[in-house]
Amino acid sequence: MDLNDLYRDVIVDHNRNPRNFRPMPDADRHAEGFNPLCGDRLTLFVKLDGDRISDVSFQGSGCAISVASASLLTESVKGRTVPEAERLFATMHALLTQDDAPVDVPSLGKLGALSGVREFPARVKCASLCWHTLDAALHRQSEPVKTE
Ligand code: ZN
Repeated sequence: MDLNDLYRDVIVDHNRNPRNFRPMPDADRHAEGFNPLCGDRLTLFVKLDGDRISDVSFQGSGCAISVASASLLTESVKGRTVPEAERLFATMHALLTQDDAPVDVPSLGKLGALSGVREFPARVKCASLCWHTLDAALHRQSEPVKTE
């Protein structure tokens, strides 16, 4: 199995069985995101313990890439501090939008599966929507995030 097969399996798995896919009535922060190009919609919920993200979940509907990306996001930022999550957001943004991004993809673990999206420019916003929505939630931005 080569790396592309492995990455495809990660996307398929997280789309079929999204992790942390649930509402969070006691969330400290939440934000909504919408990608009109594809119709992806999601609400991201964050629970904070000081500056640590103690819990994160999402709800919504969208294409396989958007659901898998949000699922991978929740697994990746849970337990991290807000500054760590912000750095990961910057890394993922570079990974998704720059062909020659100085990103050590293997070090990202499963998140590296999203690097394949770069080859499909129309899908980049599907993958980045949840990250922009997380950024909005952490910054208490009240306007819904739109990728357009
Ligand atoms: Zn999409």
